[in-house]
Amino acid sequence: MLLCNLARWVAGFLSFSPFKAAGIRHGRVPVVYIQMEKEKFYTSEKWKRKRAAILARDKYQCQICKRYGRMRPATEVHHIVHLEDDPSRALDASNLISLCKACHNAQHPEKAAKPWRRRYGEQNARNGEA
Ligand SMILES: [Zn+2]
Ligand SMILES: [Zn+2]
Repeated sequence: MLLCNLARWVAGFLSFSPFKAAGIRHGRVPVVYIQMEKEKFYTSEKWKRKRAAILARDKYQCQICKRYGRMRPATEVHHIVHLEDDPSRALDASNLISLCKACHNAQHPEKAAKPWRRRYGEQNARNGEA
């Protein structure tokens, strides 16, 4: 039945996770869906543990400020290759860096450019990360 097939296709599409299929970039999955997946990720225990480990590894200091001889406490953990660009590196320690808020914002010019991103960025800040 055509309707059955269509329903199955929609169900399959909705259960498809960009975090499982590494390397899927925006444009191929709806933006709203990426936001949902990101929120799921940033509230997961896996991420909270990894985030704490990265802050400890970087001695709770902003790694960009440190390069410039400034000592500023890190409050955020950043994905060097952004999460949505390569979800397979979401928990890869070599892709994570501790930053202060100002340095982190500087790494995400796209948040200032797009209103939905800016809103989402604020939400991430509350969740602990972006
Ligand atoms: Zn900094
Ligand atoms: Zn970031």
